[in-house]
Amino acid sequence: MKPANAVFSKQDATIFSVMSALAAEHGSIDLGQGYPDGEGPEDLRRAAARYIMDGPNQYPPMAGVVPLRQAIAAHDSRFYGIDAAWQTETLVTSGATEALAASFMGLLNPGDEAVVIEPVYDSYRPLIEAMGGAVRPVRLHPPAWTLDRHEFAAAFGANTKLLVLNSPMNPNGKVFTREELTFIAETVLEHDCFVVCDEVYEHLTFGVEHIPLMTLPGMAERCVRIGSAGKIFSVTGWKVGLVTARAELMSALAKAHQFITFTVPPALQLAVAEGLEKEDVFFSRLAQDLSLKKERLAKGLTTAGFEVLPASGTYFLAADITPLGFNGTDVDFCRHITRQAGVTAIPLSAFYADQQQAPAHLVRFCFCKETAVLDEAAARLKRHFD
Ligand code: PMP
Ligand code: GLN
Repeated sequence: MKPANAVFSKQDATIFSVMSALAAEHGSIDLGQGYPDGEGPEDLRRAAARYIMDGPNQYPPMAGVVPLRQAIAAHDSRFYGIDAAWQTETLVTSGATEALAASFMGLLNPGDEAVVIEPVYDSYRPLIEAMGGAVRPVRLHPPAWTLDRHEFAAAFGANTKLLVLNSPMNPNGKVFTREELTFIAETVLEHDCFVVCDEVYEHLTFGVEHIPLMTLPGMAERCVRIGSAGKIFSVTGWKVGLVTARAELMSALAKAHQFITFTVPPALQLAVAEGLEKEDVFFSRLAQDLSLKKERLAKGLTTAGFEVLPASGTYFLAADITPLGFNGTDVDFCRHITRQAGVTAIPLSAFYADQQQAPAHLVRFCFCKETAVLDEAAARLKRHFD
């Protein structure tokens, strides 16, 4: 038999699938994979159900249904002052995941380099490598997750085609500041490259402002801005990605999208279009609710003996396991607490290319769960480590 694709055949199941399966096997509280424990807003679900019953149910347009594309442009204008023409500068994809794939397929040629910032979301590397690209990782420095400017600039070279920037950032909850973004923009301009901006947690920030890189001087022509309805409306299974980019760049992405999925279920698109029209208070309340959950879990973990790192966005916080005196790596630790304490987390080393040289003392907890669930998880961990 001939070998399958060299990049994908060497991949294991994702750390999220592995840990969720282990959590299910042991009946443990799953604070691993990032998904809310509710069903999402009832009005949105009713709208989707109505569109399924009443139609349309045949292929919608390749780039997305008109009301959703208009809603993406209106959303970006309302929250960030971005001026995007919905006809040429918006695209609907099958989740942010497909938008990432379409970006790499649309932009990369074999031999191109892509800079990523570690700890880095798991799907970027295999997709970049499958296109013949090479990944150049730059590491942030915990516990404050600082970006060393010299190290960042050193990752760029003559072959750099693009940077992937995830802010708010999974798995550590960092939200890049204007000062950091300004330096990033300068470096990008100096090396004449594109930026794939993964902003799926754009509305999930706690007391800090999310600034799309696209809004900085010189960046609009170079940035692909990717959002996710799954995250905005707490329906992660819906997989509706929302993309904004200048027309020329978008055309490259859309050509990839037309051959990957071509389009996205129309009922979900139309329901998301209604959702994006919700008033500002819907978006701010979502962040406020999550912020309280984050504080609650952080307090519980601190009481249980962890040292919680700063996090100002996303569904996640990172915690240092060193004070617990556990003898083993972050991977051992996550397996141990799943089996012995009944709580599941994700090891942060999974977010590094060189897992041997990665920090082995940090784990990620997801806090987009009912308060009672978070309290029970913290109580279980405290009981176990006491
Ligand atoms: N990017 C990041 C950083 C994520 O955490 C996720 C997780 N869901 C995605 C992209 C994928 O989003 P979607 O579910 O819309 O494909
Ligand atoms: N984005 C989710 C997380 O970080 C996982 C999505 C997935 O399972 N691929 O937990």
